[in-house]
Amino acid sequence: MSRTDKNNSLDISWILNVQWAEILRHFGVRYTKRSTGTLVALCYFHVEKTPSMHFWDKSGRFHCFGCAKEGNKLTYVGHVISRKRELLF
Ligand SMILES: [Zn+2]
Repeated sequence: MSRTDKNNSLDISWILNVQWAEILRHFGVRYTKRSTGTLVALCYFHVEKTPSMHFWDKSGRFHCFGCAKEGNKLTYVGHVISRKRELLF
């Protein structure tokens, strides 16, 4: 399965079918995996030193215990891409 379509934008079916780890790796987000299987990373939406963003493969959702941002894989990827665009322009 390819990550990008002809327009070089991320393929929605790729986003929905891969695990969180692959999405985080794609965007260069460092994460740790808890023994429960939950992935934990620094929040993308606020500055922090202790990771409070949690990702669950079972539900496909994320939640930040620092700023209460939450959603699914599509909303996460959408946020990250628009954030990257803000940084570029
Ligand atoms: Zn946060």
